[in-house]
Amino acid sequence: MEEKKDYRAELFYEPKNGYDFLKGCGVPTGYDGCVCPPTERELMDKYCSEYIRFLDNSRTERECVVNAIELAKAEGFTEFVPGMELKPGSRVYYNNRGKALMLAVLGSEPMSRGINIAAAHTDSPRLDLKQLPLYEDSELAFFKTHYYGGIKKYQWTAIPLELHGSIALKSGETLDIVIGRDKSDPIFTVSDLLPHLAGEQMAKKMSEGIKAESMNILIGSAPYDDDGSDRVKLAVLAYLNSQYGIREEDFISAELCAVPAFDVRYLGLDRSLIGGYGHDDRVCTFAELRAILDIKGAPRRTAVCIFADKEETGSDGVSGMKSGAFEWFIHQLCKADGSELDDCFANSLCVSADVTAAFDPNYPDVSEKRNSARLNYGVALCKFTGSRGKSGTNDAPAELVAKIRRILDNNSVQWQMCEMGKVDQGGGGTVAMFMGNRNIDTIDAGVPVLSMHAPYEVVAAYDCYMTYKCMYAVYTD
Ligand code: MN
Ligand code: MN
Repeated sequence: MEEKKDYRAELFYEPKNGYDFLKGCGVPTGYDGCVCPPTERELMDKYCSEYIRFLDNSRTERECVVNAIELAKAEGFTEFVPGMELKPGSRVYYNNRGKALMLAVLGSEPMSRGINIAAAHTDSPRLDLKQLPLYEDSELAFFKTHYYGGIKKYQWTAIPLELHGSIALKSGETLDIVIGRDKSDPIFTVSDLLPHLAGEQMAKKMSEGIKAESMNILIGSAPYDDDGSDRVKLAVLAYLNSQYGIREEDFISAELCAVPAFDVRYLGLDRSLIGGYGHDDRVCTFAELRAILDIKGAPRRTAVCIFADKEETGSDGVSGMKSGAFEWFIHQLCKADGSELDDCFANSLCVSADVTAAFDPNYPDVSEKRNSARLNYGVALCKFTGSRGKSGTNDAPAELVAKIRRILDNNSVQWQMCEMGKVDQGGGGTVAMFMGNRNIDTIDAGVPVLSMHAPYEVVAAYDCYMTYKCMYAVYTD
């Protein structure tokens, strides 16, 4: 008798948990009893450990740029200089004002045949200091803040904060400041009301419980030793002057911000997750960076890695993805082999690498389970983002989605297709449309995140690793 065909296995699309592909037993790496084949799992652990180190030390877009350049130099990249000799296999980077970065590995095909781009952003939600931040009230010194990006304000009170950023002096010198990262440094915080006196506050809508203008960072309480006014403020300034040589006026040309002081750590008994501040979008930034550094020799098409700034505020400005700095750099590469920039764009491929929302079983109502990204199911592709009737989206053409399926499948990269939240639930966007608008075929792909935009976000190690593999596969296609 003829055997009955297994139509389910043949016809249904049934994604699997990534750990089923790791062929592992579920026992955490390093545990003595683990006998599972190590290769892919070890590569994942190695990759994630490096990412954890990078994220821990890259808490602003400027720090991301500095740390990326250091890694790139160690892998043979040199700073791009207009007119320099470029040939297949050349490795260059362009530092855009210390806040954005582009790296390229020149391919064997001319630029006019198209390039493979990965674009992610390095800015994350945070509390920026105002340009005149310092004041004293009730013999306590504070910094006024203006929040950056989309935050739930109540999440940012009563947690430890660090100060990061730069102070540009009239002399032309720029001072880089980090206070709180080193365990021997002091840290800072924004106070909140005790529950005993918070009856009125707790009855408000969550969006109104904390006012932006009450998000003032406590920075000192010990008065300067004299009989004058504002003695605590003076003591703070005296300290800053002794350490950095600055005066109050210098805050005016500074970019200082407070970021969460939490360490980036493996999370969960099985260490399968990573908790930290700023996964959005440094988790994708690091994936595309590590992938471009790992290219050996000359790929077929030129590979370009972009660290964009200002995504959380709409991608405007000289360091954002709408900036002509991108055209400038690619045009320079085109000039080297006589290609036209518009031919290059028309034939290029871009992965807009940004995080998406992971399905959260604690809040199932906002997601449509069939079309949500799941932790441990690999890099998450989004055909479109935006909100309402797909407003404000790039919406990758079906042919491009098919091409990406082929590239990822051919390179054993686990991927999933997702949409962020239920229809009409909300939405969001990223840099994809600014690339699509340039006549570049673009698709969204990135790591699913729990608690996105919170001071402490969570991603799955497996998805981080698959996103790295995705970027490598796209660069080298
Ligand atoms: Mn993002
Ligand atoms: Mn974001």
